[in-house]
Amino acid sequence: MALLDIRHLSIEIDTPRGRIKMVDNINLTLDSGEILGLVGESGSGKSLIAKVICGLVKDEWIISADRFRFNEIELLKLTPNQRRKLVGDEISMIYQDPLSSLDPSQTVGKQLMETIHFKGKWWQIFGWKKKRAIELLHRVGIKDHKDIMQSYPTDITEGEAQKVMIAMAVANQPRLLVADEPTNAMESTTQLQVYRLLSSMNKNLGTSIILVSNDMMSIHKWVDSFNVLYCGQTVEIADKETIMETPYHPYTSVLLNSVPDFSKPLPFKSRLNTLKGSVPMLQHLPIGCRLGPRCPFAQKKCVTKPPLRRFKQHEFACHFPINFREQNFLKKVEVIPVVVETVAE
Ligand code: SF4
Repeated sequence: MALLDIRHLSIEIDTPRGRIKMVDNINLTLDSGEILGLVGESGSGKSLIAKVICGLVKDEWIISADRFRFNEIELLKLTPNQRRKLVGDEISMIYQDPLSSLDPSQTVGKQLMETIHFKGKWWQIFGWKKKRAIELLHRVGIKDHKDIMQSYPTDITEGEAQKVMIAMAVANQPRLLVADEPTNAMESTTQLQVYRLLSSMNKNLGTSIILVSNDMMSIHKWVDSFNVLYCGQTVEIADKETIMETPYHPYTSVLLNSVPDFSKPLPFKSRLNTLKGSVPMLQHLPIGCRLGPRCPFAQKKCVTKPPLRRFKQHEFACHFPINFREQNFLKKVEVIPVVVETVAE
């Protein structure tokens, strides 16, 4: 049974120029103990989805979904209090901007100890929490715990703040951890440390993790499967091996090949493997396939929206998938039906 099961999630917002759909019919499934990579360029909607899962929604967001279940609980039907309790106990988030997520008026140690739940005798609480806070800081790679515990957020670097945020997020051993670009502000050795920490939590405690990133190659070692987003829509879903060996969607292929292979000599002034243009603004989306104006394989048919198709647990939304030997093969591929009944927040 899936720990997190989201079907046809849409997030809209009312603007002076009308209603804009920021996330359009997204499906996302995560099994217990799985690590899922939620990837796409900036503006693909991945951080919005992460926030909605953790209940960090703004009043003006209009959220609807056919299904939005965490461990068989329909999250969008919970009251704000019930949702807060569930998120505090079982779901944690690591944010992109750690310094603005910490309270500048309290020491880091105090904030970290406040997040730790304690169920023993009240007179043991301070000593136990302090010990646990120090242990957590060491686990995320902070050796000088005394200095960090007494510091205020303004006295520490962004990398240190991110480590503290990770320590807070893992303090109560959540069942689901949503990590929104958790290594953004870190040097590569620290990035490795953080990914190892997340991976060990996943292996030893069975924590399921959604790893949000715009760099597929930097997280591929740590994830089991990928959900690739473009411009608020899912373009491809599959397990890691399948998607890396035979991506069907042109966008996934570009994400996988966007980093040059430095193990071979590169031709002088060779071009990076990127798509021309940039992600369109949500107010001015192209008709049909949203990748159309940037896609080197676009044809006439692409002015109609490609449905999400499934072939052996590999889902993709493209009229002319790459790595398919013959296009007639597409006729045998199942088209995933859309929308039955909707629960709305
Ligand atoms: S549907 Fe057409 S435009 Fe869209 S990704 Fe596929 S080939 Fe490219």
